[in-house]
Amino acid sequence: MEQTDNLMEKLVSLCKRRGFIFPSSEIYGGFSAIYDYGHYGTLLKNNIRDSWWKNMIQERDDVVGLDGAIFMNPKTWEASGHLSSFDDPQVDCKKCKSRFRADHLLEDYGINADKASLEFINGELNKLKEAGKLKCPTCGAKDLTEAKRFSLMVKSNLGSPTDELSEENVVYLRPETCGSIFLQYKNTLDSSSHKLPFGIAQIGKAFRNEIVARQFVFRTREFEQMEMQYFLFPQDVKDKFEDWKKARWSWYLANGIKESDIRWYKHEKLAHYASDAYDIEYNFKSLGGFKEVEGIHARGDFDLTQHSKFSGIDLSYFDEATKTRFMPHVVETSAGLGRLLFMIIDKAYTEETLENGEVRTVLKFPPKLAPIKVAIFPLLKNKPELVNKAREVYNSLKAEFMCEFDDNGNIGKRYRRQDEIGTPFCLTIDFDSLENDDITVRDRDSMEQTRIKLAELKNYLKARL
Ligand code: ATP
Repeated sequence: MEQTDNLMEKLVSLCKRRGFIFPSSEIYGGFSAIYDYGHYGTLLKNNIRDSWWKNMIQERDDVVGLDGAIFMNPKTWEASGHLSSFDDPQVDCKKCKSRFRADHLLEDYGINADKASLEFINGELNKLKEAGKLKCPTCGAKDLTEAKRFSLMVKSNLGSPTDELSEENVVYLRPETCGSIFLQYKNTLDSSSHKLPFGIAQIGKAFRNEIVARQFVFRTREFEQMEMQYFLFPQDVKDKFEDWKKARWSWYLANGIKESDIRWYKHEKLAHYASDAYDIEYNFKSLGGFKEVEGIHARGDFDLTQHSKFSGIDLSYFDEATKTRFMPHVVETSAGLGRLLFMIIDKAYTEETLENGEVRTVLKFPPKLAPIKVAIFPLLKNKPELVNKAREVYNSLKAEFMCEFDDNGNIGKRYRRQDEIGTPFCLTIDFDSLENDDITVRDRDSMEQTRIKLAELKNYLKARL
């Protein structure tokens, strides 16, 4: 546990020190469970996002994109069931006032209360209380409240005629992105040449009033989701569900995650409309075990049926081939972009003891995800001929690769810094380069240095990035 805490501290500190992730509004004392992404964090996030988008849309011919607004007609959330039941069970410590998710607390005692009823949760909490086992994880006191439901919906008064957030004038910041996918299903179908089966994918912000959000960007109150809803014939659900499970699993492997780092978690308790639900869990070194990074769910025809009912607009599908009308079923894949970024950093973080005893910290990102692909250095900052030549190389590469020019400190320091932001290649222009038109390429992982002719440099890098 200590090791895990220690690693988490190291990751949080590295992310801030090197400009990946900053706590929000820090100069005002911060704002709980909200983070801002700095330069390298933004580049890394964009690369993960692009890898998902390419895999889910560009490389397929049955999925199209959408960029829906955050605010939607509040009826959306009534129809989807979020207003009545998108909540988590909450328990408070009467002594230290810490707040916990009751299902997570029960998990610590080996009790699975995932999506369980309040009766079940309170029953289990009472049993633990009676046995004298139930303790506050923060202060150890045995004085915890009963579990009660806490809504995760975040409210706003956008467009409301009053400041009051009463039931009639409140609007919600979407708790998941798929709402607009269901609402734009008909427009998407009508405006494209797609027939069933086809999917709609979207990346965007979502907001949840999480009870406890203390695990860095693993769980935040504002986050980005990457979701895809696949609309299909009811009889195809089983096969397509398996196809999507395979497709999503492969995406992780293609992004540097090993088979042994991830596993499937099959949901025991399913929503009444769902026929199957699995999560992909990643073994976070910094969180001490496997945690959900993505959900793959067979949602039946629940969403389109509900939105048809509440909007009065028929969202059923007419199949020309069989001349039948029915409500399409949905298989969805849903991942958090910030959570995946945390996974990629957790996986990449490496400490290596060098021959001289020094410890080198490296983020071993897969090259395609690395925020900076190539760093270019002049050996000495005060030699204009070296600086000019290095600038020339930098200018010749920057249109093709995300590059960084660095002439601060000595070469050793520059390597350390680039290792910590995960740059796969560092190039150094030295005096020999001026004579021979070549450059030293240093590999991040092996630290080997190779001299490459400038004329061959682009091809050398392209082959490796
Ligand atoms: P959890 O059980 O961790 O609260 P969930 O089952 O409620 O997650 P879903 O509603 O299925 O999550 O959301 C799909 C994905 O969105 C999750 O797998 C996760 O990657 C991401 N996600 C959900 N909530 C958050 C959050 N608060 N912060 C960051 N990512 C999140």
